[in-house]
Amino acid sequence: MSEVTSFAELDLPEALLKAVAELGYETPSPIQAESIPKLLAGSDLLGQAQTGTGKTAAFALPLLARLEAGQREPQILVLAPTRELAIQVAEAFQAYAKYLPQFHVLPIYGGQSYSNQLRSLKRGCQVVVGTPGRVMDHLERKTLVLDNLKAIVLDEADEMLRMGFIDDVQTIMDQTPAGRQVAMFSATMPTQIRAIAQKHLTNAHEIKIAAKTSTVERITQRFVLLDNSQKLDALTRVLEGEDYDASIVFVRTKSATEEIAVKLGARGYAVACLNGDMNQAHREQTIRRLKDNQLDVIVATDVAARGLDVERISLVVNYDIPYDSEAYVHRIGRTGRAGREGKAILFVSPRERRLLRSIEQATRQPIEKMTLPTGAVIEQRRIENFRAELAQSIETQDLSFFQELIASWQETLDCDSNELAAALLYLAQKEQPLNVAGQFPELREPMSKRDRERGDRPVRERGDRPERGPRQRREMKGDYTTYRIEVGKEHGVRAGDIVGAIANEANIDSQFIGNIKLFDQFSTVELPASMPQEIFQHLKKVYVRKQKLNISVDQGAGERRSVPGPRPGAGPRPGAASKRRSQ
Ligand code: AMP
Repeated sequence: MSEVTSFAELDLPEALLKAVAELGYETPSPIQAESIPKLLAGSDLLGQAQTGTGKTAAFALPLLARLEAGQREPQILVLAPTRELAIQVAEAFQAYAKYLPQFHVLPIYGGQSYSNQLRSLKRGCQVVVGTPGRVMDHLERKTLVLDNLKAIVLDEADEMLRMGFIDDVQTIMDQTPAGRQVAMFSATMPTQIRAIAQKHLTNAHEIKIAAKTSTVERITQRFVLLDNSQKLDALTRVLEGEDYDASIVFVRTKSATEEIAVKLGARGYAVACLNGDMNQAHREQTIRRLKDNQLDVIVATDVAARGLDVERISLVVNYDIPYDSEAYVHRIGRTGRAGREGKAILFVSPRERRLLRSIEQATRQPIEKMTLPTGAVIEQRRIENFRAELAQSIETQDLSFFQELIASWQETLDCDSNELAAALLYLAQKEQPLNVAGQFPELREPMSKRDRERGDRPVRERGDRPERGPRQRREMKGDYTTYRIEVGKEHGVRAGDIVGAIANEANIDSQFIGNIKLFDQFSTVELPASMPQEIFQHLKKVYVRKQKLNISVDQGAGERRSVPGPRPGAGPRPGAASKRRSQ
């Protein structure tokens, strides 16, 4: 792990440190610890890092620190492959710059109206985050002027290459002033990316967070693919549906430790948080309570949980993905202590899949995809648990006092014993209903993954494929429909243009855009059959190479294929003691 243990050591201005502290960041991630000093010193940087490593703050914080106050023209330009990423990066800038006076960041991407973007550009902004196509448009219209640009960032450069944006990126780079700082981040380093780095970067520092190989044994590792908004629901299902003695849930920020501990507490769990804000005495007291069975769940940050050695911990939940494989190994090493078996579950959002694969490679162990317990499984477990407690009471308790009461109530309430037992059961389960109908609706996988045949196949390294031509047939499963779009070879279109436009405008992950065939006057493209009608309507109006796509279902040589969908996974075994305690 990096030697830098606090943001304060990084020589960042107070205003940024304050914002970072408020966001609950405790320590810089490895890529931040390495990149921030280099970028602060004004160097160019080539970083090999994927989403989830903290790369956005790694460039945003030092570049914000170098902003010149009082200027209205853009000083920082970030190019990102998709509108989703552009928005995310712009939001991150906004959050880090919370205490910088008069700060404006502007995301610009296709599909958004020009007039809003023009108004904001006129008003002035220090940072522009955009997709290459839209940035090019503004440069051509002279509505975006880069004369005062101090730094340009290429985020997910290999994705931009793959989506066919690389010519635009080169053109944009050529229009930036000499002497501007360049930071380029890419998950992979195919030759074209290296070539761009060689051409545009000067004495660049190269940073690669080495994935040390470490082995972990006796720990069953699984992952769940979900959106961030589904995490809390998923966590409660895991905590209720899995067998474990005690569990540790890892999150990234101290604010998240508190927030999740409060939410789990409200759901009846014996839970506490462990973070860097706690003093030693408080920390020790929490660990003692965990050892003494007074607590079953701890929500912790990496730093706070370092060295934690409690035999009872048999389940580690990685609620937020760790920054790298080393942190992952540290985390899951909190279970499987003293030769016991342990389980680790990792929550992964679609954008973090690469990080998942690099963790797998570094640990040389597969992380299996798991299915979250369904409402039916949870209901079954609750009923089993209740029955077990009932059987134990019948066996071990002296029930004569209660038997007498029952007998008298049967008479006064004029009901039979079955009715009476049902009413008592109803009252006894109110805190934790046995009938969970409606409480655990089906959790749908994020759209971009729904059509994948299995989640446990390695994500293909696709970095050095600039375009997807007719012969590069992709292996896809699920239901796809072939569409016709009214732009073809004669308009100068390339497959990459089509992937880029559809990915951005329809917000479809580019890997779910299937085969593209280019004809003279039109092209065909395979898209998920589940594509919603609004997106379809929107795509009709999108322009590529000055041609309106006017998308329609292909009536010609197009084909429609259907292959079996996801394999249903096995739910957890019912029957273990529930960790929920009545409040
Ligand atoms: P990124 O890899 O830039 O997409 O960041 C992934 C997530 O990590 C974002 O939600 C960030 O807010 C969060 N994050 C980045 N740096 C830190 C840090 N030093 N401490 C805690 N969370 C962080």
